[in-house]
Amino acid sequence: MTTPLAEIIQKMIAAHGPMDLATYMNLCLAHPEHGYYTTASQVFGARGDFTTAPEISQLFGEMIGFWLADLWGQMGKPGPFILAELGPGRGTLMADVLRILSRLPGMVAAMRVHLVEISDIRIAEQARALHGYDVTWHDQIDDLPRDAPIIIINNEFFDALPVRQVVRTGDRHDEIVVGLDGDGNLALGRRPIPFITETVLADGAVYEPSPARDVTAQALFARLSAQGGAVLTIDYGYDTPIGTPTVQAVQDHQPVDILHAPGQCDVTALVDFGRLADLARAENLRVFGPVSQGDFLRKSGIVARAEKILQTARDDAARDEILSGLARLTEGAQMGTLFRVLAAVSGPDHLKPAGFA
Ligand code: SAH
Repeated sequence: MTTPLAEIIQKMIAAHGPMDLATYMNLCLAHPEHGYYTTASQVFGARGDFTTAPEISQLFGEMIGFWLADLWGQMGKPGPFILAELGPGRGTLMADVLRILSRLPGMVAAMRVHLVEISDIRIAEQARALHGYDVTWHDQIDDLPRDAPIIIINNEFFDALPVRQVVRTGDRHDEIVVGLDGDGNLALGRRPIPFITETVLADGAVYEPSPARDVTAQALFARLSAQGGAVLTIDYGYDTPIGTPTVQAVQDHQPVDILHAPGQCDVTALVDFGRLADLARAENLRVFGPVSQGDFLRKSGIVARAEKILQTARDDAARDEILSGLARLTEGAQMGTLFRVLAAVSGPDHLKPAGFA
């Protein structure tokens, strides 16, 4: 389907040749006028294109809230400290977190909340969800304050950072690129990569390197190392490369071709958690996980928490919602296994983030 962004991309390719998938993904998601994250008004939730864990159940954000309170306690209750979130979507996760943390007045008084978000539409939604809280926004991680320890949370953030795609066929390594077919429409093609010196991939395997995720993670981990603190990353992904392509596009909860309606679909790819862990270790952080979201949430006490809020649920419908939310977040066939959780921590050896033991 043609869109204003498809026409822009076609012109770019006509002038400069085929573009790598990361460039294409980045235009689809973050183009200032036509990007999906920058323009789409209804992205998350039942009416949007996809649903995320915090939108499924308040239990998710509550467990992250308990996790944060525990870690802040282990760190010796530093004040001030910075609580930051990357890509907060509608602000639901942070709202659930802050509701839990408001039971700890000492923590709230010590805390400064900072959000990193590129989309003005999302910032407006976040401001509504977090009405009454003192929150500061930034459009890049680099601008987060450096003058206090920092704990950074993010859910479904890294999957939105673009990947390239490399495939090995026999002796060749090719990059998958977006070009034009005979009619001038967008089409996938291959471009040889001349200088690969080692065969890292099995024959036929596809790997998705992501320069954007690498630089983001490196900057994040280097900062944690210098500043003190921790990061908690949750996303769909794998612990070691799976050898198949994972870039996917979704519109109205349905999978669509990744070249379909550029700028009007969510385009993401699974996150390589093994790579994130390696990059964190390279900055001398201690790494916990990756573990499955189901394990992480169960070890954090989600079942007991669900039982507690079940007691105060007003009716059967509310009870059903709590139970179905619990199942969707934790069961293997739902989000429980595909979603991975990784924490990286700087500072003293005794710090042990909850949910991993
Ligand atoms: N964490 C939310 C939303 C996930 S969608 C949830 O779980 O529901 C990805 C979010 O990251 C969106 O808010 C999107 O606008 C934002 N985003 C995408 N790329 C970004 C970037 N490079 N920097 C900051 N935010 C980004």
